[in-house]
Amino acid sequence: MEIAVVGTGYVGLVTGVCLTEIGHYVTCIDIDEDKINLMREGISPIYEPGLSDLMKKNIDEGRLTFTSNHSEGFANKKVIYIAVGTPQTKEGKADLQYVEKVAADIGHHINNDVIVVTKSTVPVGTNEKVREIIRELVNGKFEVEIVSNPEFLREGSAVQDTFHGDRIVIGADSDKAASVLEEINRPFGIPIYKTDIRSAEMIKYASNAFLATKISFVNEISNLCEKLGANVEDVATGMGMDDRIGNKFLKAGIGYGGSCFPKDTSALVQIAGYVQHDFNLLKSVIEVNNDQRRLLVKKAKERFGNIEGKRVAVLGLAFKPNTDDMREAASITLCEELIQSGAEVVAYDPIAIPNAKKILPQSIQYADSVENALENADFAFIVTEWDEVKNTELDVYIKKMKTPVIFDGRNCYALEEAAKYAVEYHSVGRKTQFGI
Ligand code: NAD
Repeated sequence: MEIAVVGTGYVGLVTGVCLTEIGHYVTCIDIDEDKINLMREGISPIYEPGLSDLMKKNIDEGRLTFTSNHSEGFANKKVIYIAVGTPQTKEGKADLQYVEKVAADIGHHINNDVIVVTKSTVPVGTNEKVREIIRELVNGKFEVEIVSNPEFLREGSAVQDTFHGDRIVIGADSDKAASVLEEINRPFGIPIYKTDIRSAEMIKYASNAFLATKISFVNEISNLCEKLGANVEDVATGMGMDDRIGNKFLKAGIGYGGSCFPKDTSALVQIAGYVQHDFNLLKSVIEVNNDQRRLLVKKAKERFGNIEGKRVAVLGLAFKPNTDDMREAASITLCEELIQSGAEVVAYDPIAIPNAKKILPQSIQYADSVENALENADFAFIVTEWDEVKNTELDVYIKKMKTPVIFDGRNCYALEEAAKYAVEYHSVGRKTQFGI
């Protein structure tokens, strides 16, 4: 099938590339010329394991092309995917300006009937609006169908998730459009769940809100464990053995971040508000998460009293391992609070430093390895559980730091292991001899 994908971010580029891998012909469109030029060379502008190789292969085999020209990209395409961003506005709503702009671009530039597929995460009712914008502009010249096909991939394993996802949701109110989407996706061999457009839109928000709830729930349990002398990892293991609960998303830490959970939970609270529904549960989930992100600074201040002038090693900046995405990363809150408190921050991340430099306070210094970040530090924060952070021997902290005081926000080390070394090890939801 001839397909256009608009937006080449984490979702659009991965979708476009994976669709070519299962045999479709795809033109990826983006307004960012620099990105287009890179991608034409076979270089992925985002870090996503396995993506570059698949990109190069499908460019070479003639199935994958790139353009910044919408009219050229839409020519003769029967299906157009929308995969542009829906970031959060100041009020916490989903900002639909990019989706609406693409709808207008489609309306202005298509020259045949199309099925428009929305992959972007959009509030319930948005697909209908997209259809209205396009239909008004084409003014009856072409048939325009709309399908909601929310995306569930996770950054860091996006390619793997696209080929091995749990389900593909297709929300349509036309059997014809739903069948075309089914046909496009059949080679993935993933269960397809068909529903109406509004329910599909809601499935995405409800799924992310539920996962965020699980994380905030276990973090609250973790805070209680610290006060009551229980071990959150044992508690989570014991809970997760119950099939009704499941063992995923029960890892205590310093909260969720990234480009989806924070904005989608906030948008769902807003969506509920449009229909006069007060989503109290979700509001608490967000509040718990906001507090949890500050946990390490709180612990450091409890330990040291004043952290002014202290040298702090921040290990990991990306919102999670295996991605360069810094959007809503816990490191942002932590670094800002450290700097405001007068600490000197030396940060390390294997991949995300170029993105971090664009948003973190100017005064942060960057190191090129875990070891160099730890050099002469008064204390260390473990923020992102990259393999190279997790696998750093505790000896290294002792050798490099002025005082080996570690605040581990991701529970990378077993307590028994930490107890073997002359380090002061603080973690999350697990009481040690150091108290906090
Ligand atoms: P992103 O910010 O990484 O990429 C968006 C891209 O769209 C950018 O390259 C931008 O230049 C381009 N763009 C903006 N306006 C355009 C236009 N008019 N024409 C062409 N290109 C345009 O976004 P993302 O992280 O890929 O997210 C896209 C959508 O998918 C969002 O709604 C998000 O909530 C959803 N989603 C994201 C993830 C994820 O893990 N990132 C997972 C599931 C769903």
